[in-house]
Amino acid sequence: MKIVTIGAGYVGLVSGVCLSEIGHEVICVDKSSARIAALKEGKSPIYEPGLEEMMARNVAKGALGFSEDLKGALVDAGAVFICVGTPEDPATGKANLSYVFAAARELAHLIEPGTVIVTKSTVPVGTNEKVAEVIFEEDPNALFEVVSNPEFLREGSAIGDFMEPDRIVVGVAGEVGRWTMSEIYAPLVAKGHVLMTTDLQSAELIKYASNAFLATKITFINEIARLCEKCGADVGMVARGMGLDERIGSRFLRPGPGYGGSCFPKDTSALAAIGREYGAPLAITEATMVANEDRKKDMVAKVVDLFAGDLKGKRIAVFGVTFKPETDDMRAAPALSILPELHAMGAEVCIVDPEGREEATVHFPWAEWAQTPVDAARESDAVVLLTEWQMFKDLDLASISEVMRTPLLADMRNIYSVEAAREAGFKSYRSIGRVGY
Ligand code: NAD
Repeated sequence: MKIVTIGAGYVGLVSGVCLSEIGHEVICVDKSSARIAALKEGKSPIYEPGLEEMMARNVAKGALGFSEDLKGALVDAGAVFICVGTPEDPATGKANLSYVFAAARELAHLIEPGTVIVTKSTVPVGTNEKVAEVIFEEDPNALFEVVSNPEFLREGSAIGDFMEPDRIVVGVAGEVGRWTMSEIYAPLVAKGHVLMTTDLQSAELIKYASNAFLATKITFINEIARLCEKCGADVGMVARGMGLDERIGSRFLRPGPGYGGSCFPKDTSALAAIGREYGAPLAITEATMVANEDRKKDMVAKVVDLFAGDLKGKRIAVFGVTFKPETDDMRAAPALSILPELHAMGAEVCIVDPEGREEATVHFPWAEWAQTPVDAARESDAVVLLTEWQMFKDLDLASISEVMRTPLLADMRNIYSVEAAREAGFKSYRSIGRVGY
């Protein structure tokens, strides 16, 4: 089938590339000329393992293309996937749907009769019906069907998540949508993946409910970690003991500096707003959001404590600033809250991050950058690890401590151990939810 994606960002590009991989003919359309120009040169504008290789393969076989011209792209298309951003509206906490509706308005004048319009962007309950209304406002005779197909991929493992999904959720309003989506995903269903078909509203809500649940699970273990620090328990053992219970499961029970990224913060906020709007308050989600903000303050306090309260003139090497490893995405990364606080208290900051520099530089104009962990650590007073990139896990810790002015280590992801830090010569080691020294 010929498919168009509107938006060639994380979701539009990964979905487009993967849909071409499973046998469709795909054109990814984006308004950003720079993005399309880079893509035409074979360069992915985002860092995602395996993406450029898969892109090149499908471009070479003529199954994938990139364009700024939506009208041209839509000729003979059976389905168009809306994959534009739905950022948080800072004033209301709700999802900003202006990009989705703008895309729908454009489509109204360009689609061929019978086209299926698939919303892959994460959108509140009722949005797909509004997309249809917007199109009818523009063209009362338009012939189309809307489908909700929320995306569950995770940055850093997006290709695997798309190609080997736990489930594919499709909310339909009629038979054309149902048939079209089963055609599109047939190659994945043939491999045993579950295609779950629902009504529009349920599909829309599944996405938000899933993300809010995962954010809550992370926040829960973060709160338990804080309790562990106070009462002398080890959160690693507590999480393992909990996770072995099949009803709970071990995933998303890793404590850290608070969740971030392009989805959890805005999706919890949007879900809470939906709950308020429908008169069904979501107290757990609301509390999760508050606790996650507090979490970042806890991380700042941890560093302050390492220096006995005085950060003035202290040089801090920061290992990792992206919201998680294997991505260059800085959206809502905990570093965005934590580093400016350290800087405001008088610390000098030197960052090392294998992929984040381009995105992060604008946020930390006062920070220095280093190419390697050793260079960042040289003559520094502490290392603060925020993102668990493999390069930091593989480090010989002694090679870090020996170049530091004062070897102090704050490990906000628990990738090292008390014993390893002590053996490597660190004077002090603080981590999450376990007793340091
Ligand atoms: P993004 O910002 O990376 O990409 C959006 C792209 O859409 C941009 O390149 C922008 O130029 C383009 N665009 C906007 N309006 C356009 C228009 N009218 N025509 C053509 N191009 C247009 O966003 P993203 O991270 O891919 O997120 C997209 C949606 O998917 C959001 O709703 C998000 O919540 C959801 N989502 C994201 C992830 C993720 O991990 N990033 C995962 C699941 C779902």
